[in-house]
Amino acid sequence: MFEKVLIANRGEIALRIHRACREMGIRTVAVHSEADAKAMHVRLADEAVCIGPSRSTDSYLNKSAIISAALITGADAIHPGFGFLSENADFAEMVESHGITFIGPSAEQMRKMGDKITARQAAVEAGIPVTPGSPSLDTVEDAKKWAAKIGYPVIIKAKDGGGGKGMKVAFSDEDIHEAYTMARAEAKAAFPSDVVYMEKYLQKPRHIEIQILADKFGNVVHLGERDCSIQRNNQKVIEESPSPALNQEQREEIGEIVRKAIAKIGYQNAGTLEFLFEDGKFYFLEMNTRLQVEHPITEAVSGIDIVREQIRIASGAALGYKQQDIHFNGHAIECRINAENPETFAPCPGKITEWHAPGGLGVRVDSEIYSGYTIPPFYDSMIAKLIVHGQTRNSALMRMRRALEEFVIDGVSTTIPLQQDIISQTEFIDGIYNIHWLEDYMRKRNMDK
Ligand code: ADP
Repeated sequence: MFEKVLIANRGEIALRIHRACREMGIRTVAVHSEADAKAMHVRLADEAVCIGPSRSTDSYLNKSAIISAALITGADAIHPGFGFLSENADFAEMVESHGITFIGPSAEQMRKMGDKITARQAAVEAGIPVTPGSPSLDTVEDAKKWAAKIGYPVIIKAKDGGGGKGMKVAFSDEDIHEAYTMARAEAKAAFPSDVVYMEKYLQKPRHIEIQILADKFGNVVHLGERDCSIQRNNQKVIEESPSPALNQEQREEIGEIVRKAIAKIGYQNAGTLEFLFEDGKFYFLEMNTRLQVEHPITEAVSGIDIVREQIRIASGAALGYKQQDIHFNGHAIECRINAENPETFAPCPGKITEWHAPGGLGVRVDSEIYSGYTIPPFYDSMIAKLIVHGQTRNSALMRMRRALEEFVIDGVSTTIPLQQDIISQTEFIDGIYNIHWLEDYMRKRNMDK
């Protein structure tokens, strides 16, 4: 097992990884930007190294600074968390070439499964159903040709896309020029490549994803699904597990398809396959070759510590159980709490004057925040994840309502009022929602005001 792990991230996820290491008796090294000198993960880690100025391009994305920090402190592994360098195959390769273990899949697997176009190909070959789609599109003419083949509406997406960026929908030949040029321009600005491709645009799907774990000995398990259909701007706001839309047969069927496919592909470590689900059918979207923000709801229902498993797998340990040993228990819901204006969604960094996190049975808060902490303006606005677990969906919902009520965050605005509003809507309570529900609901609500 590793003796010292460097955590190449910040915020709640850095703290999450620190906690897993601690419980495994592993020492931790925090790296941080100048703006994060007082962050909780820096305060708790055994050692901390400042890797650069506040902008993430100068610090959390600075590969050589991070690797130097690992070499200086003698870390034997690096956990990348999510975001930043977590899906950067060049970084994984650099880490390994310095004799340090990258906690995640190999660079080769990351390249294949992290690229949406090659991942779709691999998925088809491994028996996973995908949305009808195109190869890479070189020109607008190409896009038109493929749209005619697939049928409108279509969505143009960046092959390296993430965070809901670089995606544009076209409903007819008239929109295609704009959708194509805008998707490419967005991709160029945000991602390493501006290559785009096209998929059939599904009109009322749910977003359902399957968590997997795979070791170096060919053992693969799935940890069930997460329903992440409550979204704004293609970004997740609330997630739950299990999905209220699936019956046991559908759940087992997709789980088995994914499990077998991952074994065939030979992928190792933790990963998530994202699907759209419409009219009883699954359509593969992409694979995330890393830990995900919403992993705690899976931990709650499966009882498996996913970060611990990532570290064990990377160190060469075998999964200690088979699929039939995994039993799902109860229902879990996560609310992502952002320091944002709940109406305009403008980021709201600043000093936290008062902080009281909810507690009690079945309540987990993953957050780096403490009273007196100042949220820097340079990074993502998510400041906490509130996760609740109950024996039934209804008890989890009641618990979430109670926990949100208890949360005190003073000094900055947060999205808690929006979360409270969502979970009290009939459609959410009944579990009847798709990826457009939240935006449709907010539009109606704003019109009534
Ligand atoms: P990203 O990598 O940016 O998160 P994804 O491919 O995972 O992009 O898609 C994010 C979200 O965008 C999905 O959860 C869904 O809401 C929407 N989306 C993506 N592809 C489609 C599609 N073919 N039809 C309808 N909605 C889609």
